[in-house]
Amino acid sequence: MANCPKCGGNVANPRKTWKMAGRPDKAGKRVELTIGLFDCSKCGAFRKVLEKRKI
Ligand SMILES: [Zn+2]
Repeated sequence: MANCPKCGGNVANPRKTWKMAGRPDKAGKRVELTIGLFDCSKCGAFRKVLEKRKI
C-alpha cells in the first residue's frame, strides 16, 4: 500500500512493480530498488520505492 504524495489518499495495490539497480556507493555496494507504480483515483500515477535491498 502507498500514500499519494499529493492528496495523501491510500492506494492499495501497485499497477506494476519493477526492480532497478542503484548506483554503487563509495564502498562499491549496490542497492536494488523495488519500485511500484500506483494510480491515485484523484491525481493519477505516482511512483514509490517499495524496498531497498543490498546486492
Ligand atoms: Zn492523490
